[in-house]
Parts: sequence; structure tokens; C-alpha cells
Amino acid sequence: MGFKDIDPIRLFAERRWHERCFKCQKCSLAFARDKVPEAVRELPFCDSCAGDASKLICGGCSRFISESSFLKPKGIHKLYHVGCFKCDACGRAIESGFKTRGELVLCVEDGNKSQKVISEMIATRSEVKMDSSSVKKDSCPACGSAKASPASKFCGECGHKF
Ligand SMILES: [Zn+2]
Ligand SMILES: [Zn+2]
Ligand SMILES: [Zn+2]
Ligand SMILES: [Zn+2]
Repeated sequence: MGFKDIDPIRLFAERRWHERCFKCQKCSLAFARDKVPEAVRELPFCDSCAGDASKLICGGCSRFISESSFLKPKGIHKLYHVGCFKCDACGRAIESGFKTRGELVLCVEDGNKSQKVISEMIATRSEVKMDSSSVKKDSCPACGSAKASPASKFCGECGHKF
């Protein structure tokens, strides 16, 4: 995902947005040109949504949860998109049971591994993560989903070509 020179761009929280994607991430209200929206975790919200928004950020991808179905895992004070609740060690989506270790959420299989093994797994994964976050920096936060390949030429949200 990237930007073309002809795309109207808005800069917000040091990230670039397509003008057409730049709207309240909850109610989709478009902002006036001179309006600086409320920032909640670097995402723009209108005044009336900003309060709710801070409670509805996915603990996995840090994007706003607008779907009506989301996960609220027992004992964890965070909400997740379905599919974003993943094992911190192996990165697989957790479908059935999970274990917690401090701040970490682990699948049942990894929950039985030693802390040393877990730390190594996380270190390997965070290297991969750094790669994808540099891609993220150059994509519109509204439509640049982590799943989309960087080569994709379509805005995931609006379906328009870049
Ligand atoms: Zn709103
Ligand atoms: Zn998510
Ligand atoms: Zn796991
Ligand atoms: Zn976009």
C-alpha cells in the first residue's frame, strides 16, 4: 500500500491518510478542512466519539473496533477484533483456551514452554514486526491493513486504486 502523488493526503499524528479515508473512525463523519480532530491512539475521531473510542481500541492491531462482534477475553482488560487475539509467542490466533504470563497472552501449547523459549520466540517475532511496521508507516492507517500485501494497489477500505 502506498500513496500516489495525485492522491489528496491529510497528515495526522505524523501519518499520511487518504483524504477520503480521513474521517471519524467510529461514525465516519468527515472533518472540515480546518478542523483538527481528536486523536485517540493516533486515530482521528470526532468530538462525540473520542470518549468511547479510547475504550474500543483493539489490543492486537491497535485499530478501532467498529464491528459489533469482538472478543473480550476473560481476565484480560482489553478488547480484540475476532482474529486479532493471538498468542504473543507464536502469533497464531487463539481459538480455544489461552494462558497468561504477566502481560503475555499465550496459546495453551506455548503456555507450557519455559520463559526462555518464549522470550526467544518473541524476539524472533518482533524482528518480523519491525519490518511490517516500516511498511505501515508509508500506508494509510485507515486502509493499510497489516494483512494487505505492500504491493497491493487498492485501498482496502474504499476499494479505490492508488
Ligand atoms: Zn464520530
Ligand atoms: Zn484488531
Ligand atoms: Zn502460541
Ligand atoms: Zn486509504
